[in-house]
Amino acid sequence: MSDYYQTLGVPKNASQDDIKKAFRKLAREYHPDKNPGDKRAEERFKEISEANETLSDAEKRKQYDELSRLGAFGPGAGGFRPGAGGQGFDPSMFGQGGAQFDMGDLGDILGNLFGGGAAGGRGRRKAAARGDDLQVDVTVSFDDSLHGVTARVPVDQPDTCDTCHGSGAKPGTTPKVCPQCQGRGSIARNLGGFAMPQACPQCHGNGTIIEQPCPGCGGNGVQHKTKRYAVKIPAGVKDGSKIRIKGKGEAGLRGGPSGDLFVRVGVEPDELFERRGDDVVLEVPVTISEAALGTSVKIPTPGGGRVALKVPAGSQDGRTFRVRGKGAPKLKGGHGDLHVRLHVQVPDKLTKEQKQLFEKLGATLPDPRAAVLG
Ligand SMILES: [Zn+2]
Ligand SMILES: [Zn+2]
Repeated sequence: MSDYYQTLGVPKNASQDDIKKAFRKLAREYHPDKNPGDKRAEERFKEISEANETLSDAEKRKQYDELSRLGAFGPGAGGFRPGAGGQGFDPSMFGQGGAQFDMGDLGDILGNLFGGGAAGGRGRRKAAARGDDLQVDVTVSFDDSLHGVTARVPVDQPDTCDTCHGSGAKPGTTPKVCPQCQGRGSIARNLGGFAMPQACPQCHGNGTIIEQPCPGCGGNGVQHKTKRYAVKIPAGVKDGSKIRIKGKGEAGLRGGPSGDLFVRVGVEPDELFERRGDDVVLEVPVTISEAALGTSVKIPTPGGGRVALKVPAGSQDGRTFRVRGKGAPKLKGGHGDLHVRLHVQVPDKLTKEQKQLFEKLGATLPDPRAAVLG
């Protein structure tokens, strides 16, 4: 938990008026409406709102001051010391009922106490947490996969509800002050003569209770919105590869970092070319006479353009030729190869004349089975 006074840039003895002024000035500067799309401003605005939430409330501020005096918010928040005139602190006094009290829990309790309604945020608040990673699928054409492309990727992300602006209450209604904690969000719990603040069980530390939930979000203040990111897909991207975009996942909680966005790229199959790693396979049909006599064929290449391929006389069906450097671009530079596979087409319909020619030719050919089958 950061120092709220530092966040608002006011001294510890600032008047409520000073705090109000400082908050207004900062809020104007960092308001999301003034900084559209600026994640850092958004994060800052949340911090400012959170600090104001506590310091603008005299009662919450008093609790905050008291706890920071006890060293609860400093680095290594476990450094809990009995305050001046306080009772000696003995962890064993919390061990009743078999529930071991760990000082690490102190941060949770304090988080519950103060975290409640910052910037309209809701729910139980513990330590800062990294946001979840998100994954979206995007499909590109085979051509785009070879040349690279900038794809507009829609990402469904939780955001503040537009209807209630995050309060969770139906417009026209306001959240009610929690009767159990009178809005403090915490209740004092007596632990062996030691009063320990604990998150209010009725409002879960929010200090307020929503009687009529917002119809837009069902009361949680969160609405899913589609954001569009321009994602650069590198030339040579393979089907199924993932591109990681740091910090574009779900927003972190309580100042935690955002998760990452993973864009999984699907590549549409091509009619001609088949990708094999960085290499590309192309099947080329040739006639039976081209295969027997040899020929030169113009073949398309995956990157565009054509190259001449020499097919030697006597090439068998399925024979494959390697055209170096004409495959897909490699992500680290250079290109894979193009493998050209011959498909010798045997005519299945013959004219009378062709039939006679084949018969004539066939009579001159040796028996291919004589050597292998006997
Ligand atoms: Zn709402
Ligand atoms: Zn309450």
